[in-house]
Amino acid sequence: MREETIIVPIVDPKGRLAVIGTKTVVALWECPKCGKKMGKPYIDTLTVHGQSYAIHAWFNECGHQVPYTELNLVERYHLEGDEGIIDFSLDYHNNINMDINAHDILDMCLSPQQALDISEKLRALATKAYGRMKVNKDE
Ligand SMILES: [Zn+2]
Repeated sequence: MREETIIVPIVDPKGRLAVIGTKTVVALWECPKCGKKMGKPYIDTLTVHGQSYAIHAWFNECGHQVPYTELNLVERYHLEGDEGIIDFSLDYHNNINMDINAHDILDMCLSPQQALDISEKLRALATKAYGRMKVNKDE
């Protein structure tokens, strides 16, 4: 899985594109529009109302501009005690890819809480996928 850990702006959900901070996210590093590998991220400075924020920016060789809100974030779920990890990501086909990395996959079991946590993350990705499919249909 091609991915990058990058710093992105946090936009105030109530304000009009007001930046209120930054956060680190893991994103699937392929263009959500054509699936090609995106350009290497570099640190850039975003200045909003006199306040400066260090964030990552990149250029895509495919020419598509990808806003932060359209990045395909990798949801990573660590299984407690077992060092197992489950990754989910939404690809540009709007499929949700699941990658399970456990010591012994046959022995993997989930507590009810873990199953709920995972299903919440899956639901969030599925909701995003449906949102994107609707936008593509309307275009
Ligand atoms: Zn592209």
